[in-house]
Amino acid sequence: MPDIIQLLPDHIANQIAAGEVIQRPGSAVKEMLENAIDAGATQIHLIIRDAGKELIQVNDNGKGMSPTDARLSFERHATSKINSIDDLFAIRTMGFRGEALASIAAVAQVELKTRTAKDEVGTYIQIDHSVVRVQEPCQTPVGTSLIIKNLFFNVPARRNFLKSNTTEMRHIVDEFIRISMAFPEIGFRMTNNNADIYNLEKGKLKQRIIALLGNNLTTKLVPVEEPTEFISITGFVASPDMASKSRGNQFFFVNNRFIKSAYLNHAVTQAYRDLIPKDEFPMFVLFIDIDPKRVDINVHPTKQEIKFEDDRIIYSFVNSAVKHALSKYSIAPSLDFTLDAGINALDAVTQPFTQQTREETKSDYLYQSFADKGKAHFLEKSGDLRNWKELYKVQQEFADQSNVPDETSNQLPELGFAADDFQQDFLQLAQSYIVATTKKGMLLIDQHLAHQRILYERYENSLGQNIPVLKCLMPQTISLSPADAMLLESLTAEMLQLGYEIEPFGQHTFIIQGIPADVKAGHEKASLEKLLEAYKHEASEVKLDKREQLIRTLAQQKSIPHGKKLSTAEMEELFQQLFQCEQPQLSPSGKKVFAKLSTPDLENLIRNA
Ligand code: ADP
Ligand code: MG
Repeated sequence: MPDIIQLLPDHIANQIAAGEVIQRPGSAVKEMLENAIDAGATQIHLIIRDAGKELIQVNDNGKGMSPTDARLSFERHATSKINSIDDLFAIRTMGFRGEALASIAAVAQVELKTRTAKDEVGTYIQIDHSVVRVQEPCQTPVGTSLIIKNLFFNVPARRNFLKSNTTEMRHIVDEFIRISMAFPEIGFRMTNNNADIYNLEKGKLKQRIIALLGNNLTTKLVPVEEPTEFISITGFVASPDMASKSRGNQFFFVNNRFIKSAYLNHAVTQAYRDLIPKDEFPMFVLFIDIDPKRVDINVHPTKQEIKFEDDRIIYSFVNSAVKHALSKYSIAPSLDFTLDAGINALDAVTQPFTQQTREETKSDYLYQSFADKGKAHFLEKSGDLRNWKELYKVQQEFADQSNVPDETSNQLPELGFAADDFQQDFLQLAQSYIVATTKKGMLLIDQHLAHQRILYERYENSLGQNIPVLKCLMPQTISLSPADAMLLESLTAEMLQLGYEIEPFGQHTFIIQGIPADVKAGHEKASLEKLLEAYKHEASEVKLDKREQLIRTLAQQKSIPHGKKLSTAEMEELFQQLFQCEQPQLSPSGKKVFAKLSTPDLENLIRNA
């Protein structure tokens, strides 16, 4: 028998490794953005074409690479981030395996331009599936620009495995959101097929969350902050009314790295028990900071899973921190802060203490975290008195304003007045605002925003139980730009639920088969074009999922404008519908819909006039 084992050539080994690290365009995006962050960039621009299948480019203003480093960076296991296995347990950078660039270069055509601050000229390198084609000096700003073209062009099996553009784009956007969320101090921009999708200014975490997840969160974020010397948790949880049926907006970061952990998600969800329906998920963005020694991030090639030294304690820590935050802001009463059963069951707690174990336990970092007075998990069952007072105060104020309504009165939720306070006189001001008088003052309502809120909730409730489509007698065709056509195609399912029946009809053309009943005949095309324009406009401002985007756009577009005269009956109708909404106070994009003026307020107004 001849010997049959041989060493794999590097380019094949790299291709195999690429299968683990680079599964789709989104994974390349993740690795490239992480490299830019590790390089200390303060401004990062991601450029995508054809959902990353044609081009992915990242420009950063980080520290750049010397000519030798530039060449070496594409070798497997080439990294500037660790020297020894011990370093692995003190990792503060996003990357460390030295595999990403080698993997990418094995399955794509790559162009790199890079320059350090102390070099006058930069380096240009071009590589096709691991073969260096060009390396030469070039003019380029300090920092790095990496271009990946035709991902998987040499691995047809993988290329064919890629999903539709919409799906691959979703993955890219997800990665972009996860990374930019964790680094609000870095400016991020993302451009897709020449249109900017995000342009995120440097700022605070709260601003970043709102810019990424939507303005409607502006008044809904509750800060979480439990610093201890050994582990800390910071970030925001959203108030219970922002909970949704999907897990979309749940973000956990450990040492700034996005991770997926059903276990930790459960720890948060559990803290919301009794505040949200069973089948809904709270929204949160939470950062756990912990000594890198205490976690193993190297259990998964893409580093999205993580092992804690003792995850039961982490669970309890997260759970208590969220409960604490919710109670501090009077969203939930601070009743039940005892250590989680999981912790009580730990050996360290149940075993009889010898002098030695007692000393050991005391010096253990987790014990110390928990023994820190004043922290959430240390609040006793009797409850924190201060919180009780606050809670009581809120209830008291509420009661004062609304004449102590009993349970059965048709009290408007959380508004501080009851429906039968109104005398039902309506007056329109400047053809834009509605004045509604009450026994104790008046409400000033913005008619445009009020109607937006009403329509928004109506559309939201109707998705999933389709709005009836009015079939067009004469189906019309509409031709669009390639980008608009792609957009419309990706929206057809949602549009149908909103009453627009549209079918692709070759080369960027569509047939309009049906429209919602409220669109006037003859306006089918115009209504669709306007909708797309507004959708794109909205999309560039805040990025939401497309269904949310569509509903907002429609609500915005079809709502009664300022400048429209309303009859008393119309005002009353609007008023009634507004206060049947779940969230009458705010427009879909988070603007206040009305102002309350009490009789004393009015009196003050006159005094100070
Ligand atoms: P890792 O990030 O795990 O070290 P990569 O393959 O992603 O491995 O990158 C290899 C090396 O190339 C990095 O350690 C870094 O020194 C260098 N590098 C990669 N991207 C950049 C960049 N955008 N700016 C500066 N250096 C970079
Ligand atoms: Mg890397």
